[in-house]
Amino acid sequence: MGKKHLYIVLFIIAILGLSFIQYQYFRIGLNLASVQFNQKMGEAVKEIKQGLYQRNDLTYLVGTVMVENEDNFLLSMDSVQDATSYFMDEFLKQKLIQNGVKTDFNYSLYDQDSTRFLSSEESFSKKAKILSYPVALDGYLPGLINKRVTLELQFINVNRYFLSQLNGLTIPSIIFLIVIIVVIIWVYRAFYLQNNLIMTTNEFINNLTHELKTPVFSIGVASKILEEKGHKDSKELVGIIRAQVEKLKTQIEKVLELGNIEERKGFVKYIELDAKPILDHVVQSFEKQALLNEFSFKSDIQGDSFLILGDAYHLENAISSLIENAIKYSGDQIDIEVLACKKGRELSISVVDKGIGINQEDIKRIFEKYYRVVDGDLHTVKGHGLGLHYVKRIVHLHKGKIKVDSKIGLGSTFSIILPLK
Ligand code: ADP
Repeated sequence: MGKKHLYIVLFIIAILGLSFIQYQYFRIGLNLASVQFNQKMGEAVKEIKQGLYQRNDLTYLVGTVMVENEDNFLLSMDSVQDATSYFMDEFLKQKLIQNGVKTDFNYSLYDQDSTRFLSSEESFSKKAKILSYPVALDGYLPGLINKRVTLELQFINVNRYFLSQLNGLTIPSIIFLIVIIVVIIWVYRAFYLQNNLIMTTNEFINNLTHELKTPVFSIGVASKILEEKGHKDSKELVGIIRAQVEKLKTQIEKVLELGNIEERKGFVKYIELDAKPILDHVVQSFEKQALLNEFSFKSDIQGDSFLILGDAYHLENAISSLIENAIKYSGDQIDIEVLACKKGRELSISVVDKGIGINQEDIKRIFEKYYRVVDGDLHTVKGHGLGLHYVKRIVHLHKGKIKVDSKIGLGSTFSIILPLK
């Protein structure tokens, strides 16, 4: 499975896990809401029982309906029943609201023989999910008919009521989850598109440089023939052409080499080797250059051998690139030192210069492909911004690290740390 798919799978697992946890919290919330509801109902029931215990205005009216005693009233029994129903409803509503139960309810009052005395005007549909609280009444009312009297309270769709109480938590959590999903998909898309763009740009550059190889080679051959057989007067000009063609060739090779390394075509071949002769060779060739161009170049390579697992050709290239940069970015006063020594189980190679230095912001970016530090508005030193990118890739392919320490105006130290065998 590629990295891309691994990220997608991890993302889906994380979102599913998060949704599952949210769902569990939601269920716990519903359970808590139900426990809270039962507690409130316990209190409300206690108060309702107390309110209906003794003879008072309400229980007297209820009692009249229960025994159907019309004598005390001028009104018909139906009217009394309606009025009692209304008062009972108001009484129950008040007790429930006082105890924090603010949902629709119905009630009915009946005795042990299921004789119904009073009930709400409207009853809930039979299909609805109903939660019942039967309250056995004590005191005046059962005493009146010498039978057990029950007041049953019914609630409809309590789950919807619990949900409404949890909405303050569920809706924001669903919204935030959706926001996370949308943002991650958006970032992933942007990343994917950019990656695609980088890939096509790389491919384009590689193809172009490949195409350039043939004409450059032909110009090289033609200029060589011209140099050998051409007119004496044009020799100098042909020499310039040849020198420039050689330069172009090396640049093309560099770009192609980098492209190959990035595609990981097994380009770097690891063998057990001694880095000491490689370092000596690099140092000697720069010593010659220093002598010719009159600049200061010192080296201090401590140790007889540095056994590592690596690719001699690329290591030599990488170290040379660092020294070339030190020369390029030193201005007029070139003073370079190459240090190498064993540090524990690692080999440390440092290239120290007293050149122009790099500021902290640029240090973060100099290893990026094509990145060059802008000096004012122009590049005073020629380059493509590929050298350090190449060095970093080679060092990483050797499981090493690269460090930079630099101060503007004082110079820079580039250190490569490689694991020793
Ligand atoms: P190039 O040298 O072709 O521009 P590099 O990738 O080698 O590309 O370097 C990237 C940038 O890092 C350079 O443009 C330069 O500004 C900066 N740089 C590299 N080495 C040094 C150094 N020794 N001293 C100061 N600046 C450096």
